[in-house]
Amino acid sequence: MHIENHRLKDVPFDATPHMGREITPRFLVMHYTAGGSALNSVRAIRNRGLSAHFFVDRDGAIIQTVPCNRLAHHAGPSQWRGHDGLNNCSIGIEIANLGWFDRKEAAGWTRSDLGGRCLPEPEVLIARHRNGGPSMGWEAYPEAQLKALAALTEAIRAAYPSIQEVVGHDDISPGRKLDPGPAFPLARFQHLGGAAGSGTLAENDLGAFEVSSRDNLNLRGGPGTGFTVLGKLAPGTRLRVLREEGDWRLVDLQGDAVPDGFVHGAFLRRIGG
Ligand SMILES: [Zn+2]
Repeated sequence: MHIENHRLKDVPFDATPHMGREITPRFLVMHYTAGGSALNSVRAIRNRGLSAHFFVDRDGAIIQTVPCNRLAHHAGPSQWRGHDGLNNCSIGIEIANLGWFDRKEAAGWTRSDLGGRCLPEPEVLIARHRNGGPSMGWEAYPEAQLKALAALTEAIRAAYPSIQEVVGHDDISPGRKLDPGPAFPLARFQHLGGAAGSGTLAENDLGAFEVSSRDNLNLRGGPGTGFTVLGKLAPGTRLRVLREEGDWRLVDLQGDAVPDGFVHGAFLRRIGG
């Protein structure tokens, strides 16, 4: 995957009318679409007079709608590291993802505007957003989508050494925006293809631990004993803690910063890092 003339080679380019002047990109801003397929979101976002440089579907397919050196309307009111209005200095990527769910039903997680559609529990991460709010369900990002996004991130950073950092919309518009949310492994992208990033909350929170219980430890779908057991972790299993929620810890087992589930914090011992 690489970029020539501000366009990603070999992916569809579907020019939007909503693009502005030339920019020098300094940040890469990650968003979720809060919608279905990337193609539908390209249309929906265009119809609202908004735009983004790239859309990444759940299966990893990519669509570009704005050249990388032109302004797109994705960030809105936003601030980061002394910059005001990140549209002026960033590339925006919309990732197909439904976002949050506030109702748990027998068939899975849903919310009022989904027309009865439910997402089964394995496709949902239960977490509280680091900017606040209640514990909710969040659609998990499929691995095929994250892989394509990683390749895209590397291609962009290779073409634009001016980019200093990868951030979430929820970093730059914290009171207003929840995307890409707790299910998105931002730390995995912050150091991809660029110089050492300056790190954000997610990166600083990472810590290495091992399972200190005498018996196997339950890995659960949410922060409580009422949540589904996703697996059993043997004593001594090494993992990283991504976030604390009360007595519970959201953990990453593979070292790829992707959340794998929750364990009770009483059965973890810090081993450094
Ligand atoms: Zn956004």
